Amino acid sequence: MSEQYSCVGCGVQIQTENPVELGYTPASALQKEPIICQRCFRLKHYNEIQDVSLTDDDFLRILNEIGKSDALIVKIVDIFDFNGSWLPGLHRFTGKNKVLLIGNKVDLIPKSVKPNKLINWMKHEAKQLGLQPAEVFLVSAAKGLYMKEVAQAIDEYREGKNVYIVGCTNVGKSTFINRIIKEVTGEADVITTSHFPGTTLDIIEIPLSDGQVLVDTPGIINHHQMAHFVDKRDLKVITPKKEIKPKVYQLNEGQTLFFGGLGRFDYIKGGRRSFSCHFSNDLMIHRTKIENADDLYKRQAGELLTPPNKDELESFPELVRHEFTVKEGKTDIVFSGLGWVTIHEPGAVVAAYVPKGVHALIRKALI
Ligand code: GDP
Repeated sequence: MSEQYSCVGCGVQIQTENPVELGYTPASALQKEPIICQRCFRLKHYNEIQDVSLTDDDFLRILNEIGKSDALIVKIVDIFDFNGSWLPGLHRFTGKNKVLLIGNKVDLIPKSVKPNKLINWMKHEAKQLGLQPAEVFLVSAAKGLYMKEVAQAIDEYREGKNVYIVGCTNVGKSTFINRIIKEVTGEADVITTSHFPGTTLDIIEIPLSDGQVLVDTPGIINHHQMAHFVDKRDLKVITPKKEIKPKVYQLNEGQTLFFGGLGRFDYIKGGRRSFSCHFSNDLMIHRTKIENADDLYKRQAGELLTPPNKDELESFPELVRHEFTVKEGKTDIVFSGLGWVTIHEPGAVVAAYVPKGVHALIRKALI
């Protein structure tokens, strides 16, 4: 695009290349007047929020602003990718403001797991990560599960103040807000934008009954999320669409599991035992011996071990090894954004391999 255009809605510079970045409009829309970015278009015509991401600097400025105002903060995480979707450092900016923590996508967790157990787990993890939420909820924004309860809690906890909704990209923030809009408004053209000082971005305000607003803040990109390392086809395979069915493997020391070609789990020491794998039902798991694993990966990445696809291999990051010793209790080894392996008893030594730049970590078992 040689000419420069600005959006008549929010003033952002128009671009036609990247649909998930600020100022996107399809090239065909440039023929029409007035020129408006897709985000403003959807807002204007459909009262619908579309997530945009922004730079880390802008995000820090927004957090600063939130910290200075007297408001309720609603933080959304993806329960399937809890650690990958956590916004680190939010607690440093919240000031005296209360935080409600919402775990979205509960429809993906096996139904046999009691919601209270998950909520207690989230409280525990949040505390470890430095955040003490006033309350924790689980919802499925897509399925409309527990949304009424959350909308009610937001209304109670805000005590007549504004509400800021924060979350990283892909946690389902837009789906969540679009549901809330239906609950609280239903009218056309009620949503407005206003300006966050010092940022390149206008924020979206949804009016609440008492003249206060619900503010949609842009989604921040967590650069270590698996989603940034794979293409759209692969994302379809690794993103669970319905309740995950754990796959249980009995392993001997010296055995390896491959999760497609995106992750690898080596069982090094601890006697014969079982491991529960929580991944998208569409992701193929292959078992081999540790001694053959490097060679298998060299020969079969992009073939038997897929995703990634063969044509992505050249640019795909190498797998990096992280070793863990399970010292106590029931534990998860997390392949950030891909899934996790639950180890039922302590005393195991294992290694997790993830693409360079993606996180692997150990945590108290979620399930
Ligand atoms: P945003 O980037 O945070 O605004 O996220 P979106 O609302 O665009 O949702 C990201 C992805 O998560 C989409 O593929 C949604 O369909 C999916 N999603 C959103 N809410 C849920 C949910 O409750 N359950 C499941 N399984 N998927 C969801």
